[in-house]
Amino acid sequence: MQEIFDLIIIGAGPAGLAAGIYASRRKLKTLIFAKNIGGQAAYASQVENYPGYEAISGFDLMQKFQKQAERFGCDFKYEEVIEVKKEKNNFIIRTGSTEYKSLAIILAFGMTPRNLNVSGEKEFLGRGVAYCATCDGPLFRNKTVAVVGGGNAALESVLYLASICKKVYQIHRRDEFTGEAILVDKIKGIKNVELVLDSVVTKINGNKFVQSVEVENLKTKMKKEIALDGVFIEIGHVVNAKPVKNLVKIDENNAVIIDSDCQTNVAGCFGAGDVTNIKYKQIVISAGEGAKAALSAYKYLQRLENKESPLFDWGNK
Ligand code: NDP
Repeated sequence: MQEIFDLIIIGAGPAGLAAGIYASRRKLKTLIFAKNIGGQAAYASQVENYPGYEAISGFDLMQKFQKQAERFGCDFKYEEVIEVKKEKNNFIIRTGSTEYKSLAIILAFGMTPRNLNVSGEKEFLGRGVAYCATCDGPLFRNKTVAVVGGGNAALESVLYLASICKKVYQIHRRDEFTGEAILVDKIKGIKNVELVLDSVVTKINGNKFVQSVEVENLKTKMKKEIALDGVFIEIGHVVNAKPVKNLVKIDENNAVIIDSDCQTNVAGCFGAGDVTNIKYKQIVISAGEGAKAALSAYKYLQRLENKESPLFDWGNK
């Protein structure tokens, strides 16, 4: 007979891993589906705002989350989830190769990089076009690159790439940044960084590899071509809700709608972290939401068995 898990968690970023820690400490038979460990957080070169660590790499922090979840008995499967359905009281989770069953699920599969949607972006992916400076930056040592975007992710990428590349252009569609002022100040003092503001990339050119980008200034309408070897697209992230769009309610940004207990509109289905409609996308917040979703799932499972934990949580019986 097919094994039925108490809880299946989809995603192994801060929310999914924290949920795994909380669920397995409640002795729930818990399985986490991971495309990779740590999600976007694993790519942060330096995390300085996770309480308890003055500075730690995102990769190391996420490895610690995973070890902790494993220590309490959480299982992992490295498969991509294609579809989630609910049949009676069971959730059916379909991956490329297999179907899994559980009584409750937590959706914690985060976000994926937003595309620029310009000619050349898809064609040169992996051949000069990249979405993660921490991962792919070292391939561009001593070369010329551009970073597109003006948020924290773009600013951090510029800082890192400027330390290993010959030259870094930062191309941003406005003359103000959404990222933190402290990062903007740092960038303005770096000699091999050139800001290309009020401008958008309209085309990425190349042969085997990227050779240049075409840029248009939105104010002056002037166009120019910048010769370079790589383009890092750091313009935020979007939710890919495809596997669950027939299961739960999503908002206009494709985010899974949850209430303050991480409950979706489907009984037994919870959401946590960047995949949900919560406002702030931070590691500490996602971890907290993951913990909350796991406690809510535990409570749901107790009720399914007509039980109620005598000590559910502080002051919350
Ligand atoms: P943000 O949403 O903060 O920034 C996205 C940037 O890309 C903006 O400058 C935006 O421009 C630009 N942009 C969006 N769409 C397009 C487009 N189609 N074409 C051109 N430019 C576009 O995303 P981030 O990934 O930078 O950050 C996400 C979250 O993660 C934030 O909350 C951030 O603070 C956090 N973060 C925190 C870090 C840390 O704490 N160390 C590190 C990295 C991220 P515009 O402003 O004009 O909309």
